Amino acid sequence: MDFDLSPDELVFRQEVRDFIKTNMPDKVAKKDEMAFVTEWNKKVREKRWVGYTWPKEMGGGGGSLMKQVILKQEMAIAKTPGLGTCFMGLSWVGPGIIQYGTKDQQERFLPDILDSKFQWCTGYSEPNIGSDLASLQCKAENKGDHYLVNGQKMWTSLAPFAEWMILLVRTDSSSENKHEGITCLLVHMKSPGLEVRPIKNMTGSAVFAEVFFTDVKVPQENRLGEEGKGWMVTVSALANERSSIAEVAGLERKLEDLKALVKRIEIQGKPATQDQSVRRTVAGFETIIESMRLNGMRYLTKQLKGEPVSSETSVNKLHKATLEVEMGDYAVSLMGHVGIHSRNSPDALDKGRYAYRALSWPDVVIGGGTPNIQKNIISERILGLPKD
Ligand SMILES: Cc1cc2nc3c(=O)[nH]c(=O)nc-3n(C[C@H](O)[C@H](O)[C@H](O)COP(=O)(O)OP(=O)(O)OC[C@H]3O[C@@H](n4cnc5c(N)ncnc54)[C@H](O)[C@@H]3O)c2cc1C
Repeated sequence: MDFDLSPDELVFRQEVRDFIKTNMPDKVAKKDEMAFVTEWNKKVREKRWVGYTWPKEMGGGGGSLMKQVILKQEMAIAKTPGLGTCFMGLSWVGPGIIQYGTKDQQERFLPDILDSKFQWCTGYSEPNIGSDLASLQCKAENKGDHYLVNGQKMWTSLAPFAEWMILLVRTDSSSENKHEGITCLLVHMKSPGLEVRPIKNMTGSAVFAEVFFTDVKVPQENRLGEEGKGWMVTVSALANERSSIAEVAGLERKLEDLKALVKRIEIQGKPATQDQSVRRTVAGFETIIESMRLNGMRYLTKQLKGEPVSSETSVNKLHKATLEVEMGDYAVSLMGHVGIHSRNSPDALDKGRYAYRALSWPDVVIGGGTPNIQKNIISERILGLPKD
């Protein structure tokens, strides 16, 4: 593992820092936030920093993985808006289309993802199928020029706002191997027969939904990859960026928020910063984040050497889930009765962000695979323990 940046990478890091200094104001008035983010997106897109590692001929930056890590790290430290707003499009739909898409699909979909034109959502989980995704039942019949989709998806994040969905369906039930016979389709959310029913979570927002398909026609040209090979498409698209270093930078940022909060709080008439138990707890969070960062460096080094990285990332995913919940809960408890005020309450401290985070725990704990599943992966595939 090499911790030092090359001269070229140091120059790039300075370029990113200069860009942030010029374009990221200290404070943006609430009413100007939308306009600022739109302008920011335009500028980072012009620099080709959105989709930084995507091939240049497909509209990306053609950059290295290491520089992308530098880019995301610097942005996270400076608390800038993200690099583009189409999260799922940039994270797995786009990479899937680059790897398996036809030329027509690449031309049709990639520019809009890079331009943050609209959101994509991901239709994988079903009412009784989440962890064991390969058992999915939502069906599609091949009707020649189109597929006819019938069934239901569940917990589909962003479905109420998305323009497109990457959907997994079963096109063949005859195989004994449940990973076969699954096909990946790109579906327009306004397709006749497709119904989105938003689900409210405990924060009060309705960002995910149930999605129902009744004889929804999806044109053949919207199939991603070969028919029956959708599992492979999904697995390799999800394996795109694995080091999780940028996520660690996000956690570091949250720890800084927590430290700033601790500095403003008193416990029994004394500054909380002098309280041994508070100091020990915050130091404990910091130690885990540092170990995650070093783990991330290890995965990144493997990736840069061209070695496969898959199961190992479950270690950081597990830590992240635990830590986000613990840090959120701890901040709320430190604040005493003020801690219960959530977003938009005039009595909330720091806009109620800690209570909101504490209530949002399913996002980080369940979304993308539960802790039990991560533990199974670690024990079976990394430690070589017998199957559960
Ligand atoms: C905020 C949020 C956003 C989401 N967004 C999306 C999305 O955009 N698209 C999408 O397709 N899905 C999404 N999901 C669904 C998510 O992927 C599933 O909820 C998750 O995979 C778990 O599946 P499940 O809910 O069916 O639970 P189950 O798989 O039924 O699990 C229930 C419990 O059993 C445990 N368990 C299951 N199998 C095992 C095992 N083999 N060994 C040990 N324990 C086991 C689990 O850990 C869990 O505690 C989202 C979920 C949440 C909470």
